Amino acid sequence: MEIFGALSRLGFGELVFGHDQETGLRAIAAVHSTRLGPAIGGCRLRGYATETDAIEDVTRLGQAMTYKAALARLPHGGGKAVVLAPQTLLSGDRSQLFMAFGRFVDRLGGRYITTEDSGTSATDMDAIRATTRHVLGTSPQKGGAGDPSPFTAIGVRRGIEAIAHSLFGKSDLRGLHVALQGVGHVGTYLARELHQAGARLTITDVLPSQRAEIARELSAQAVAPEEILQIDCDIVAPCALGGAITEDLVGKLRCKAIAGAANNQLATPAVGRALQARGIFYAPDYAINAGGLIHVAEEYSGYNKERALQKTDRIYDTILGIIERSKKEKLPPEIIANRMADEIIAAGPVKPA
Ligand code: NAD
Repeated sequence: MEIFGALSRLGFGELVFGHDQETGLRAIAAVHSTRLGPAIGGCRLRGYATETDAIEDVTRLGQAMTYKAALARLPHGGGKAVVLAPQTLLSGDRSQLFMAFGRFVDRLGGRYITTEDSGTSATDMDAIRATTRHVLGTSPQKGGAGDPSPFTAIGVRRGIEAIAHSLFGKSDLRGLHVALQGVGHVGTYLARELHQAGARLTITDVLPSQRAEIARELSAQAVAPEEILQIDCDIVAPCALGGAITEDLVGKLRCKAIAGAANNQLATPAVGRALQARGIFYAPDYAINAGGLIHVAEEYSGYNKERALQKTDRIYDTILGIIERSKKEKLPPEIIANRMADEIIAAGPVKPA
């Protein structure tokens, strides 16, 4: 792999390798940008087939975090870290590994702030906290702000309200039909938010007991996972895994908009253009699902729930802005979101009033 070529294409930054002989830690931190403030982004733990795969993953994710933090108007740049899962993980002491990772993060001197991501938990963040203060998302007992999922859900609901207002001329969500894929952490909170706002819900999950339970609680219709994306409805809300919207699916969609919490919803960039050609609005994932990041980032400046909620509320304006510009410039929403983030980054840090 041509590492410097790849870094240059993504606009990096720093790529830092951490190794600890005793615990077997193999970690990579990708500090994409610190222009707007310390880089923030989760730490993934997973196995990679090759080290090149790990570098590609961490650099791509680190760059995406710069865009996400900028568009959420956070005083942060973007970064990401991966811990390459060691063979000994199941038998060994996980906390020792994450304490070693914390020492690695600490050596970066605060240029990168880590937090939870796939494969890691608040308990792991607590272990990291023992060796560095540059970690967010610890358990509430260690001063953390707790589960970000409810905030992610609130942000998605606000984005859906912006769509309802701008595209459907509705002042609230009463009667809006949303098809929700995946009632896990975020999906369950989102389903409750939408139900409370008067929306009509069709839901699914690959776990039959999970979908039955939420359907019962919210008087929603439950369908099989393979049906959900082709439901005749106003909005499809993908809240499961990435890549749900494929080129093959676009022609079969019967919704007017796609707005959900899942990361990387569009399987390829061509899907975005196909959705635009069909007149289906796509709320760029990193713009609408930023509530959790906003919540976690609040910990950095001393957690204040009200302030976190106010910032999450602004996702409404962000989505509204994307809709208006997308119409005006006749470009897909995800291209507009990238442009808006680029402009915010180019303008530099906001000076405190
Ligand atoms: P989760 O694992 O708790 O929930 C996902 C749910 O989707 C599970 O219940 C799972 O059974 C279900 N599922 C998986 N594949 C499915 C399929 N093909 N059809 C239907 N259901 C399926 O995860 P989560 O924390 O709720 O996150 C959901 C998505 O949102 C992920 O893509 C995540 O990256 C993204 N996201 C989460 C947060 C957060 O605050 N948790 C923030 C930003 C983005």
